Amino acid sequence: FRKKLIAGNWKMNKSGAEAADLVADLVAPLASQTEVDVLICPPFTALETVSRKLEGSSIKLGAQNMHAELSGAYTGEISAPMLRDLFVTYVILGHSERRQLFGETDAVVNTKVLAALKNELRPILCVGETLAEREAGDTLRVVQTQVEAGLAGVYAEHAASVTIAYEPVWAIGTGKVATAEQAQEVHAFIRSLLVTRFDDTIARKIRLLYGGSMKPANAPELLTQQDIDGGLIGGASLEARSFLELIEAAA
Ligand code: 13P
Repeated sequence: FRKKLIAGNWKMNKSGAEAADLVADLVAPLASQTEVDVLICPPFTALETVSRKLEGSSIKLGAQNMHAELSGAYTGEISAPMLRDLFVTYVILGHSERRQLFGETDAVVNTKVLAALKNELRPILCVGETLAEREAGDTLRVVQTQVEAGLAGVYAEHAASVTIAYEPVWAIGTGKVATAEQAQEVHAFIRSLLVTRFDDTIARKIRLLYGGSMKPANAPELLTQQDIDGGLIGGASLEARSFLELIEAAA
């Protein structure tokens, strides 16, 4: 069925040396682990170092953002071919921090999703409601808009390369985790949107990750929900011990 994916989003943390240390602490313990797909997404500046350290390992490498164009006058930006060059295979797109702090709209996120797929990178499309939206009863409507707009123009034959991360904004970095029921409700809803957008077979192949204060203590309950296929982890991915415990919880 769907293999679980545990993904670490390191956000703006770790120098090259710190990144190398953390990877070294992950590679050996995970050497014979095949039950769970493991992905780490360091900052751009550590990608090359981490990429070298991951040679021969089954841990996958991801980026946290990218620009939709291949090259050109886009000061400060990084393109898909640049990421491919470093053996990056996944890219997080439309994270709520990008949306809220850097003005990324659904339309911008969509161009990036299409560019990632065109360049054979697997996009992790992030969606999720704010606290105000949840309290106003708008959660499903907001998530529907973000999923549909994010996936506009995606061909059915590429859809299985897409991962969607449901990250309620109020649960990110707050220690306030969604209950397993709250998360499962939204995940099942996203799955139903994918059935409508593609078909049943494709919808069953697309992995849906939960993100937002996922920790070893709350992971088992979340990860046993029918439509939760893994986690996108911030804080708890910055230390080997907690990240390894999360991988164990997913196995
Ligand atoms: P935390 O796990 O730190 O809440 O972050 C979640 C997240 O934003 C992952 O992308």
